[in-house]
Amino acid sequence: MKNKWQNATRCIHYGENRKEPYYSITTPIVNSAPFVFSSSKDLLDYVTGKSSRTQPEYGRMGNPTIKSVQEKLAKLEEGEKGLLFASGMCAITTALLVLLKKNDHIIITNDSYRRTRDFVEDFLPKFGIKSTVTELSTSAVRKAIRKTTKIIFSESPTNPYLRILSLKEIADIGKKNNIITIVDNTFATPINQKPLQYGLDIVIHSATKYLGGHNDLIAGVLIGPKELVQPIEEMLMTIGGICDPNTSYLLERGLKTLDLRVRKHNESAQKIAQFLENHSKISKVFYPGLKSHPDYEIAKQQMKGFGGVVSFLIKSDLKGGMKFIDRLSIPQIAPSFGGAETLIEQPVLMSFMDLPKKEREKRGMSDNLIRLSVGLEDCDDIIKDLQKSLNKL
Ligand SMILES: *Cc1c(COP(=O)(O)O)cnc(C)c1O
Repeated sequence: MKNKWQNATRCIHYGENRKEPYYSITTPIVNSAPFVFSSSKDLLDYVTGKSSRTQPEYGRMGNPTIKSVQEKLAKLEEGEKGLLFASGMCAITTALLVLLKKNDHIIITNDSYRRTRDFVEDFLPKFGIKSTVTELSTSAVRKAIRKTTKIIFSESPTNPYLRILSLKEIADIGKKNNIITIVDNTFATPINQKPLQYGLDIVIHSATKYLGGHNDLIAGVLIGPKELVQPIEEMLMTIGGICDPNTSYLLERGLKTLDLRVRKHNESAQKIAQFLENHSKISKVFYPGLKSHPDYEIAKQQMKGFGGVVSFLIKSDLKGGMKFIDRLSIPQIAPSFGGAETLIEQPVLMSFMDLPKKEREKRGMSDNLIRLSVGLEDCDDIIKDLQKSLNKL
């Protein structure tokens, strides 16, 4: 029966051990670095595989609080095995370090998370690993394939333009060419889309965003089939970027309301995107739930909802954008997204000011671009706030 549960039920009940010794409805936070053995014989039985004990001897190798969240997340993504990490970046870098070796080639799409792209372009070459950054389209990805291509890495939707890649086509390209396909599903969440169901090999999230959902933790997760995840788990024990039990518990608590929250984010962002699109001071809105979005059709096919992030261009410049933002009272100026609080940023100011203007523009980071992460406040309050400030532009 558990296997037939819908998302909301899985979010609340799946993976939780409510039995001995505590019969606790919430998962206990097990703050233990070493784990003990009752006798030397117990230890001998454990190390020789003769005991039924599953708890390893040391917290870097496994922890019951972490395990429970891993199981919940794996189920939500319809995957076999999940792994928690100290951050989304830790999940991405650990996975790539395990799956790639010298002379391998990786394809990554161009509006991927900046640190992911920097890691692939600037760090992996140190190990003799080659890369191609492509436009976000299946034809561009197909063209970039070499004999040595081992991984195709993409996001969908992407940041900040919310571009969508056909998950099924990418999965098919991977299967046909014997390439591992990885998607960073942070923007969508398993509530809006489940890439493994389309045949992708591995899903990664920054759990810092919607999965945690409260702007109060940093964590990452990777989900996939056992044969791919196990070697990554081994490396996680070596690199050591584990998620700690307190954070795991916060994540589990956040996950209880994931289904509810994401539905609300979807609904509010759609309304706000439509409001912005009809406003005379806005020149363009990027939201996959709008008919004007270049990937609207494909988004509709593979997604149940379009998420809480809306990007837009205002009819002004960097300074005008700063003034517009400073007049707002609900959205807080901060990076990140996916939490209860509405956040707003100018991507150019927040993440790209170190690049020359020409390079920024090459990356599509124009000065009048604004990214809004719609939170869980009353949607009409947010709209009124935006309207008041836009009217003064
Ligand atoms: C935030 C983010 C990351 C990095 O995750 P951290 O948890 O901050 O390390 C990776 N990918 C995407 C799409 C993100 O939004």
